[in-house]
Amino acid sequence: MIVVMEKNASEEQVQHMIDRVQHLGLKAHVIRGVERTVIAAVGDERITKAESLESGPGVAEVLPILAPYKVASRELKPESTQISVLGFKAGAGVVGVMAGPCSVESEEQIVSSAHAVKKAGATALRGGAFKPRTSPYSFQGMKEEGLKLLALAREETGLAVVTEVMSTEEVELVAKYADVLQIGARNMQNYRLLEAVGKSERAVLLKRGASATIDEFLLAAEYILNEGNSNVMLCERGIRTFEAHTRFTLPLATIPYLHRKTHLPVIIDPSHGTGHAYMVPDMSLAAVAGGADGLIIEVHPTPETAASDGYQSLDFPTFESTMARCAKVAAAVDRTLCRMP
Ligand code: PEP
Ligand code: MN
Repeated sequence: MIVVMEKNASEEQVQHMIDRVQHLGLKAHVIRGVERTVIAAVGDERITKAESLESGPGVAEVLPILAPYKVASRELKPESTQISVLGFKAGAGVVGVMAGPCSVESEEQIVSSAHAVKKAGATALRGGAFKPRTSPYSFQGMKEEGLKLLALAREETGLAVVTEVMSTEEVELVAKYADVLQIGARNMQNYRLLEAVGKSERAVLLKRGASATIDEFLLAAEYILNEGNSNVMLCERGIRTFEAHTRFTLPLATIPYLHRKTHLPVIIDPSHGTGHAYMVPDMSLAAVAGGADGLIIEVHPTPETAASDGYQSLDFPTFESTMARCAKVAAAVDRTLCRMP
């Protein structure tokens, strides 16, 4: 249920209603909008009746949330959420770009990538230290050593660091070095992991599972939000279909659909979404034109020698020209590309 407070409701009245909601055994998520404050009362709604909250002081109305996801829904929060981490911003008219190699491989590789993507206009550095690989014989990542190199690259450039966390036990370790915790496609429905990052202070980039429906995707985000972490970005990274000309099928209609259903920023991953470096520039432009709030792009100093996903990674010059073109497209659709302050 959504408890909509009157425009001029006092802080005491808001607090009183939060207490009432909690007393009913529901979780209270407070959203302070420009116009008014609303309290999402989330939990088993069968145990309470709307009328019991409607008579509270300063309450304008009590509405049901029709979507299966609650805190993620636009019904609850009509204004778009903007995520802001160091110089990186995404959402509410600002397009943020995260770029860097699939995997951290060495100090030279990650630091040179960080400088190059920053020069081209990215505001966050991506790089995997814990890699979810299809085969156990493939490179599994540099683990904590890789996290340390990411932190070093942040020190040198000021870029926010985005890196994947694969298990509940590793959340604390990864959060020590990262600014944004990435939940990979393979873990989108690892509910204990979602709860663990929901308890973390760090922003989360949640990738869509390759076979997940949008409702499943939003319910996965709900697990994180429900633990109190409101800094969640949704990442469309392509789904499995019968098509074989691309690694996955990248559905850009996800962007307007999610914008209608949720206030959370929508990020597009054209690298995993296509699996071909030559497709990445055009799909980046298409994503920005289609309203994406951000992009996550694989960039490598020498894609040919990359330890993972080289075939879909851009080299530095191609990333730079892609960014320049994205800035023009963003302006054409009344958005701005986030820049380092
Ligand atoms: C990645 O970002 O390198 C990655 C493994 O992504 P996904 O979880 O989308 O496959
Ligand atoms: Mn990758």
